[in-house]
Amino acid sequence: GPRGEANPRAWPQARSQGLVDAATEAFVTRLMARMSLEEKIGQMIQADIGSIKPEDLRRYPLGSILAGGSSPPLGKPDRSPGADWAATGRAFEAVATESRPGHTPIPLIFGIDAVHGNNNIVGATLFPHNVGLGAARDPDLIRRIGEATAKETAVAGIHWAFGPTLAVPQDDRWGRTYEGYSEDPAIVRSYADQMVLGLQGRPGRGTIQDGRVAASAKHFLGDGGTKDGVDQGDADVSEAELIRIHAAGYPPAVDAGVMTVMSSFSSWQGRKMHGNKSLLTDVLKGRMGFNGFVVGDWNGHAQVPGCTKDDCAQTFNAGLDMAMAPDSWKGLFDATLAQARSGAIPMARIDDAVRRILRVKHKLGLFDAQRPWTDRPGVIGSPEHRAVAREAVRKSLVLLKNDGVLPLRANANLLVAGTHADDIGMQSGGWTLSWQGDGNTNKDFPNAQSIYAGIAEAVRAGGGSATLSVDGSFTRKPDAAIVVFGETPYAEMRGDVRTLEFQAGDKQALATLRKLKAAGVPVVSVFLSGRPLWVNPELNQSDAFVAAWLLGSEGGGIADVLIGDVQGRPRNDFTGRLSFSWPKTAGQFTLNQGQPGYDPLFPLGYGLGYARPGRVPRLGEVAGVDASLANTSLFFARGRVPAPFRLNLGAGVTQQAVDGPQTQEGAVRLNWAPRAQATARITGPALDLTRETNADLLLQMQYRVDRAPGGPVRLGLGSGSVDARSIFAAGSGWRTVRVPL
Ligand code: BGC
Repeated sequence: GPRGEANPRAWPQARSQGLVDAATEAFVTRLMARMSLEEKIGQMIQADIGSIKPEDLRRYPLGSILAGGSSPPLGKPDRSPGADWAATGRAFEAVATESRPGHTPIPLIFGIDAVHGNNNIVGATLFPHNVGLGAARDPDLIRRIGEATAKETAVAGIHWAFGPTLAVPQDDRWGRTYEGYSEDPAIVRSYADQMVLGLQGRPGRGTIQDGRVAASAKHFLGDGGTKDGVDQGDADVSEAELIRIHAAGYPPAVDAGVMTVMSSFSSWQGRKMHGNKSLLTDVLKGRMGFNGFVVGDWNGHAQVPGCTKDDCAQTFNAGLDMAMAPDSWKGLFDATLAQARSGAIPMARIDDAVRRILRVKHKLGLFDAQRPWTDRPGVIGSPEHRAVAREAVRKSLVLLKNDGVLPLRANANLLVAGTHADDIGMQSGGWTLSWQGDGNTNKDFPNAQSIYAGIAEAVRAGGGSATLSVDGSFTRKPDAAIVVFGETPYAEMRGDVRTLEFQAGDKQALATLRKLKAAGVPVVSVFLSGRPLWVNPELNQSDAFVAAWLLGSEGGGIADVLIGDVQGRPRNDFTGRLSFSWPKTAGQFTLNQGQPGYDPLFPLGYGLGYARPGRVPRLGEVAGVDASLANTSLFFARGRVPAPFRLNLGAGVTQQAVDGPQTQEGAVRLNWAPRAQATARITGPALDLTRETNADLLLQMQYRVDRAPGGPVRLGLGSGSVDARSIFAAGSGWRTVRVPL
């Protein structure tokens, strides 16, 4: 077909559960019979709170308001959290209600970017951004985060969270990499439904009265596949790749009853998603049976050829149901009304869009007068929610290196250094109160705990001490130092970079690490970032190195894992595994398993633990040997059983990933082209891939090797490994290999 045109039959099917039922449809039919065309067009347009006043709704009966974006938040951030938001919402609701005398009032739906908790509210619980959650490999945790986020959103009078982001970022230079769970579609797939269920509750059952909100799977589609990782760019990938990688999360999200899907700013094969009828209508609503509504992104319709932000029949005709027209709602309303009258947008299309929007509002309970959720005190930043966030931090940490310095003793005298050690904003990243995450978050999140505060609390409890010194200077030599450094917050295109070198030019952290090393102080690096970056110099200066991502309000989660007991025994182990491959050079942009020549420093799934003290490849070592054979390892992405698992193979291996849907059996072909080939079948005792196990993994391999590998080839799962040279001697046959776990 023409470029950017999908063939729906090639796509997976899904079942939009819980949204359509007789009662709701009858209600909507009755309501629509009494709506004017103006009221219908109004439903299809969303304004931003910063550019609309309640009185405006009299002339422009809009259906939705974006409570945030780049505008100042509703209410004053330093007053009672949540309350002002609800009050402002009520002022709009009052007008919306009055303006239909004698008829059923049509409630507004307020949406917000609650993407790591309800991050727009002062004092809210901030969960780790998705990049960290991907490392946790814990779908149940994702659901519980969704539940807590829904409550902290609903209590503020907001009905709709613009998440989850289901991007599968393939180029880490993209400034939104951290909003994605993983480069691996299997991880995104295993999380997509859980976040929807957490936010919305059981399909078709959750209402705002239960503290549930509508979710929005975004950004449909291919946002993580743009060329060179350019935000809002073009994903010039085949339809097969679009389906296999970028669409992975959508069928489960639709199955779980996701109420809305947000269209992507990006293009597919040169065609803007906001104008792509084959994907928005034929694939999403047709093939996948999606029964909720499609919302546009921030003036995203304006990017469709022939459109402006005030005029875009094309986007509605392509299948957009509600345009996000933050500041252009007036113009767009007038133009869309005229287009409806002239037939440029068919009436059937308008009625379909309005039906979908009203269906969601009805299912969500917005037509019911009672909104008890806004009256509850103590929901925002509650101890229960903070405990979930702290658990998430603990599980998101990935230990990349440990020469034995960790865990630290609870009675140690520690120095905590680095620019990010005592700064809630730095540890939380973008989308934290402000779009770019550049506010004074230490002040705005008075109950949040910085990493330094969390460490200090843990060692004080054990009889030790912690001193904060940003540049790492000290008078009394500490037992060890924890240096916290990383990226400066950013969001969307402002985070796009050209190379993966960590803060190119900023060598402050490195200088601190060197100074401490020179003074004979063991150094633990805690690295805060929205993506893996080239940090080899910092890694080489560190005795231990922890990737801690953008962890949110609960810095204490770091101490739970880094600080052991007074004997130096761990209190909690590291369980996080990389959900993005870690680059060996600053130029490894599209470092994804599945790519030819996959040769990361740390592969997808890598992560050490106290019980798994694997050896870290010394940097540079790998390049010295036959690179096509070195560093070969076999990993499982740990998911729920029966979640799909896949085998990932290391350098120089043409790999074929295998999903093992119901059992622990799978087969994989290893090609050390052109010299060796092996087919492996996994057998042996049933492995519970969700937890650590002492069982060995049995690999039955049929192989043919033309020439024995020359370099050290190890086959491993997790940190256990066997020398593969003994397996792949020249010849052919079957071998059973026992791989320790
Ligand atoms: C982003 C969306 C977000 C929207 C509303 C856009 O710029 O791409 O992810 O939901 O703004 O703030």
